[in-house]
Amino acid sequence: MKNSEKPNQTNATQAKADQTKDIKNNAKINIVEPSSDAATDLKELFVDSLKDIYWAENALVGALPKMAANATSSGLAGAILEHLDVTQLQISRLEQVFDLLGEKAEGKKCEAMAGLLKEGDTILLETTPGSVRDAGIIAASQKIEHYEIATYGTLVAFAKTLGENDAAKLLTQTLAEEKEADCVLNDVALNTVNIVAAE
Ligand code: FE
Ligand code: ZN
Ligand code: FE
Ligand code: FE
Repeated sequence: MKNSEKPNQTNATQAKADQTKDIKNNAKINIVEPSSDAATDLKELFVDSLKDIYWAENALVGALPKMAANATSSGLAGAILEHLDVTQLQISRLEQVFDLLGEKAEGKKCEAMAGLLKEGDTILLETTPGSVRDAGIIAASQKIEHYEIATYGTLVAFAKTLGENDAAKLLTQTLAEEKEADCVLNDVALNTVNIVAAE
């Protein structure tokens, strides 16, 4: 079908193009000037992203014990502590990935994880101990796991595109663990914590 036979779609496409042009010409919306160490290729963006999640995983090691200590459900506390062990393993896996790339393992503050952990602290303040707080801890933990799932999904894709197959394999293992952690939290919520919290 020719474009002329689809006037509505053509108009919509033109409107989108005009809107994009307007935004680019709007002096108030600035094109961001990259910093001096900005990534210039996918490999650099990959390494930067690894530094971000390396910081995030280390921050989690610091935060998970507090979340476990505040959980009343032994199933929930156990799941969190088990994920603490898994997280340590994930950190060593990231170190292997840095090694494979010939890069130094170092963290760079992950603003997203810092924010998610802050939200977790807020949930503790805003709930009384027991199943309601447990439900809040699960909510905060699942947001964290979903952030990690998104991150490792991207990292696996970057590694594959770059032909870094050994790195891709290691990152795929971690991705599977994050998905598993999310499933376990779902089970604890649906089978026990949420039901008691609703009473
Ligand atoms: Fe993790
Ligand atoms: Zn991050
Ligand atoms: Fe991030
Ligand atoms: Fe995790």
